[in-house]
Amino acid sequence: MPEIVPVAWEAGTPLSAESRATLRRAADILLRGGLVAIPTETVYGLAAVATDAAAVARIFAAKGRPASNPLIVHVSGVDMLRPLVATWPEEAERVTAHHWPGPLTVVVPASDAVPDVVRAGGTTVALRSPEHPVTASLLAILGKPLAAPSANRSGLISPTTAAHVAASLGDAVDLILDGGTCDCGIESTVLDLSGAVPRVLRPGPLDRQTLEVSLHGSIEGPEATSSTVARSPGLLPRHYAPKAELELATDGRERVHTLLAADKRVGWITRGAVAATAAAASASKGRLHHLSLPDDPAGYARHLYASLHALDDLGVEAIVVDRPPGDEAWHAVQDRLTRASYRE
Ligand code: AMP
Ligand code: MG
Repeated sequence: MPEIVPVAWEAGTPLSAESRATLRRAADILLRGGLVAIPTETVYGLAAVATDAAAVARIFAAKGRPASNPLIVHVSGVDMLRPLVATWPEEAERVTAHHWPGPLTVVVPASDAVPDVVRAGGTTVALRSPEHPVTASLLAILGKPLAAPSANRSGLISPTTAAHVAASLGDAVDLILDGGTCDCGIESTVLDLSGAVPRVLRPGPLDRQTLEVSLHGSIEGPEATSSTVARSPGLLPRHYAPKAELELATDGRERVHTLLAADKRVGWITRGAVAATAAAASASKGRLHHLSLPDDPAGYARHLYASLHALDDLGVEAIVVDRPPGDEAWHAVQDRLTRASYRE
């Protein structure tokens, strides 16, 4: 098993000498071409120095990630990204001034300093400045950008705890920095600023309207068209998936009853204070595991992946998820659940 090192932190307080010593050790591993799992406010990342093509290639091998899927490069701020971009559009300046550090990734034209392997052969680079104090401090100590996709095997659920990382990647990672449970719990919003019009490629914790206000302009939404897939190759229809078959249900209770009657072991994810009925529980003979998530988009997102991990660990065969509301605020959650339930 990989080494998991807890890094104590408190919001608004400088890191302790002990935490900083741990981060210097992590920086040494990275500078020697190693892989370190890092806590961020979205999900845990699997990091390598972004300008070290050989180290970045190890990320793809560790994850089993297709070479066509580009990586997000994490920077401590706008100063660190200057050498990585061919141009830094005015829109990028405006929107990052509002939302960095935070769960926003911007896609802009790349410079030659970004290795091909990071941009999957494309001409753009995706950039983000993370807010999590552990990773923000690591970037400051390292003084170099970090390429980091989510720290899980490709196609499976992203990790929101250090234990999830260890279970998914094992010894493929040299060190795991444990900075606690991720606050957002889902991946960053990806905003493409390299085309004629700004466009959300992946919905996330920051919604389109919020970004439009800080951009002073309109943003096109994500569309499930082939052109979007070509622009953001990582956005495969099936992604973020648990091992169990996941289905979105308009009448979850009914669906759960049907599956239990067919002798299945079932996980059921509802919103708010909905108790599994006594009838369902007694009919299940322990084959029903019911989890209720907060009935607000941010709270729901924070717990979603951990719930899917937990149900997989319980060995359920099917996961029924009560379909969340269709309004814009739930867009990112809808997106992840739709991809998790996708079947060829
Ligand atoms: P993850 O694997 O969760 O880190 O997600 C990274 C995602 O960011 C990828 O799957 C892409 O969808 C997106 N991305 C990264 N780099 C680019 C890029 N240069 N252009 C468009 N999308 C990108
Ligand atoms: Mg991922």
